[in-house]
Amino acid sequence: MPKWEPERLGERTWLLPTGVNVGLWEEAGAAVLVDSGGDKEAGRQIRQVLEARQLPLRLIVNTHSNADHVGGNAYLQKQTGCRIAATRQESAFIVDPVLEPSFLWGASPPRELRTKFLEAAPSTVDLVIPGSGPIPGTALQAIPLPGHFFQMIAVLTPDRVLFAGDGLFGQEVLDKHPVFFLHDVAGHLDTLDMLESMSVELVVPGHGRPVRDLKALAGANRSAVLRTAETVKAACERPAGFEEILAGLCRAFAIELTFQQYVLVGGTLRAFLSWLSDKGTLRSTFQDGRMLWQAA
Ligand SMILES: [Zn+2]
Repeated sequence: MPKWEPERLGERTWLLPTGVNVGLWEEAGAAVLVDSGGDKEAGRQIRQVLEARQLPLRLIVNTHSNADHVGGNAYLQKQTGCRIAATRQESAFIVDPVLEPSFLWGASPPRELRTKFLEAAPSTVDLVIPGSGPIPGTALQAIPLPGHFFQMIAVLTPDRVLFAGDGLFGQEVLDKHPVFFLHDVAGHLDTLDMLESMSVELVVPGHGRPVRDLKALAGANRSAVLRTAETVKAACERPAGFEEILAGLCRAFAIELTFQQYVLVGGTLRAFLSWLSDKGTLRSTFQDGRMLWQAA
């Protein structure tokens, strides 16, 4: 049996705390999932919960394509024949999961990156959904959340529970991992502004506990982004190369690098360098075969 219990969040909305948060929405005697957990084992446990409740699985809506959120897709699709919905850009990664470690590494990835943490089992996407508006065939709404990944969405249920994917991290997660993966810093800051203006009953971050105070959680996430930005800027007071700035980030936030952390924190650092460079805060030069960053 599952290592966790489903938790009721609304009249027809449940949380399946598989490690990463999975949403369960009951509609017309069937289940719609928001994400599918990190691996086959998560998929198996979700299936046991749905069987115990006699809820056939009709659809999985993926907030985004990161392996920790789509890892149960392949198992659940094979076992139940459910359909899978995702936005166009995220679909590409779900159908061809080697794209995730390839994108993070910037080339064909070495074996160390081809694990279930970065490369899920492939599944098909049956329903490519727009990044905002009603999710066809359901009473759910998609809300665009650019920033963390290419075309991530949040999913809002009619009982006003917002599944925010990795657009928000729980406070307890921020305390442990103050530097989190970002693809587009400007997009993410706009997403946090938009989230702050929303009114919902409950917000469920992709990782961490659900909370009622969306504004406070968005504020805490913004503070973490701005702290990372300040640390990157401080590392560029003198001309510094990528590896030097990365080492500064690791020192400041007590990050221990592994192969996986190297591409996740490194990718995030590149996102900050793009943002600070586009804003005119930093400029880059090339010297003796090195790319150097410094205050503009
Ligand atoms: Zn995640």
